[in-house]
Amino acid sequence: MKTLRHVAALRTEVAAWRKAGQSVAVVPTMGALHDGHLSLVRAAQSATDRVIVTIFVNPAQFNDPEDLKKYPRHEARDAALLRAAGVDCLFAPDAQEIYPPAFATSVSVARLSEGYCGSTRPGHFDGVVTVVTKLLLICGAHKAYFGEKDWQQLQIVRRLVADLNIPVAIAGCPTLRAADGLAMSSRNARLTDAARAVAPALYRALCAARDAVGRGEAVAVVLGSARRAICEAGFASIDYLDLCDAETLTQLDTRPKRPARLLAAAWLGEVRLIDNIAVTG
Ligand code: AMP
Repeated sequence: MKTLRHVAALRTEVAAWRKAGQSVAVVPTMGALHDGHLSLVRAAQSATDRVIVTIFVNPAQFNDPEDLKKYPRHEARDAALLRAAGVDCLFAPDAQEIYPPAFATSVSVARLSEGYCGSTRPGHFDGVVTVVTKLLLICGAHKAYFGEKDWQQLQIVRRLVADLNIPVAIAGCPTLRAADGLAMSSRNARLTDAARAVAPALYRALCAARDAVGRGEAVAVVLGSARRAICEAGFASIDYLDLCDAETLTQLDTRPKRPARLLAAAWLGEVRLIDNIAVTG
């Protein structure tokens, strides 16, 4: 596995692969890799000849400087995992390479970026969309892999690529979970043992809400019960827990007629966890 830190070097590598008729996938990450990330790598490997993983802790998407400072960084360990997984190239640029001093551009996807994590983390999605645009253009891959774990982000990236005619196919991969249901996340490493024991309550509440909506119970009552269950389990507060259309993310207050999603973000001590689950009408 090659580790590359410069745009020009990566472009040269990808151009050689494409010239040889090979298909290329990219898996963008912020590192601190876990099995969820590796499931994206495996999906990419099963569909394309070459796989690039990017690791870039993108300062532009952190609205809280403390969160950026505390974000886990383990590049040597990550590189060993990717090498063992058979990844072809790790692209790990530094912040200067992505945001040189005169950098002045921001890419923004309206509407989809506005609710949920967009409301509680102002500017977050503009940062995500700008860096994803750059990474997709830099890598020139045929396919890019993203997790359903970040459902709102996945819908935004799909919109971005369609709206700007970026020549890449976006693949969404299911959320990988621990045995007790907690969605794997780089942030889980920051949970205390006590908080880790409470954390699966978020997924349990989403599952119970999905089942209740499926039985035809009133959506407002179901959401209220789910929020209460999460707080009673020991979460400090809830940023949002809503039912929405799976694609447009329009909030729903009645039983869905199209594919829908329950989306949630909640604080457990100092750690903000997000999760989501499919709901069928
Ligand atoms: P991150 O490093 O957290 O920015 O995540 C990089 C990519 O991995 C994103 O597309 C995430 O949605 C995806 N991802 C993160 N956690 C999981 C998980 N538990 N299962 C599947 N994909 C995930």
